[in-house]
Amino acid sequence: MTKITDHIRNANGKPIFSIEVIPPVKGDTLKNLLDNIEPLMAFKPPFIDVTYHREEYIERPLPDGTIQKIVTRKRPGTVGICSAIMHKFGVDPVPHVLCGGFTREETEDFLVDLHYLGIDNVLVLRGDPAKPFNTFKPKDNGYSYASELVEQVANMNNGVYLHEEDTALSPSDFCIGVAGYPEKHFEAVDHEIDFQYLKQKIDKGADYIVTQMFFDNQKYFDFVGKCRQAGITVPIIPGLKPLSTRKQLQVLPRIFHLQMPPDLVTAVEACENDQQARQVGIEWCIQQCRELIAAGAPVLHFYTMGKADNIAKIAKEVF
Ligand code: FAD
Repeated sequence: MTKITDHIRNANGKPIFSIEVIPPVKGDTLKNLLDNIEPLMAFKPPFIDVTYHREEYIERPLPDGTIQKIVTRKRPGTVGICSAIMHKFGVDPVPHVLCGGFTREETEDFLVDLHYLGIDNVLVLRGDPAKPFNTFKPKDNGYSYASELVEQVANMNNGVYLHEEDTALSPSDFCIGVAGYPEKHFEAVDHEIDFQYLKQKIDKGADYIVTQMFFDNQKYFDFVGKCRQAGITVPIIPGLKPLSTRKQLQVLPRIFHLQMPPDLVTAVEACENDQQARQVGIEWCIQQCRELIAAGAPVLHFYTMGKADNIAKIAKEVF
């Protein structure tokens, strides 16, 4: 398998197309996901990210008046999907690896499985709070921040495993990605402190950054500029999501803590239906892509979130 940083190097400045997919809800078939992304293979993504969804805590009232407490995962299957992507499309999968819901020993087991499968790229994240909670809580003996997990992966890459005296064990060879937030991570008090912690992830061994989605390219350009000023030299991959419904004007800013540019808001508000809004989203994203390519973005990374026909239309115009 090829590392993301090598894919970028091998492209010699030509922009790369890539996507992120979300595992289906438990009980759904994988076929829908694979059928959805198959048309995107025409644009030759060298890698595909697969998100990870941690456990949720549910309370279900029973007929006898008691409450049944359930811990369940609604979208399992990240590693299986990675394997399916490797075998069906011959594309390098990038599983997301979370702090949330894992002890450091469970993380090590997870990484060992990936290593044995020949998966050499991981996107390391803290993860969202477990539903229905609002704040992130690590598991006992788990990590509070992605930088700690980056350190564990980097240690494994040096042959250092947990609780082993021998420090010359067979090393893994993971290329480590981390998340960056052009519009600031919502919990950070200010941009400066968020940058310090991003820098910490790089200093501990991360090889590249993938950004949260944004609709105003200036936010990405400012973010890259600040990273470079701070001495962060790794590739910074812009994450893109074409807006596809009128409701997303409110939903995306609420969930992902971003601002919609006024011109996009005006154009979507003038739409009479979601079909028109989807077309506005496609055209907006095409403009974003053209500008990002002109500015030298190494990869255009699309969040598919289900149906991907709009991404195919965008890719057809820009690749
Ligand atoms: P961190 O880098 O740990 O930062 C979290 C917060 O803590 C920030 O505010 C940061 O400034 C602060 N911080 C960092 N280090 C320290 C420190 N040492 N002391 C004090 N404060 C600190 N979520 C999922 O559940 N599954 C996924 O598959 C998934 N994929 C994602 C993919 C991308 C590209 C992005 C951008 C996000 C994704 N997320 C996913 C969401 C992500 O898990 C959340 O945004 C989460 O809230 C933060 O993750 P992080 O890795 O950026 O955390």
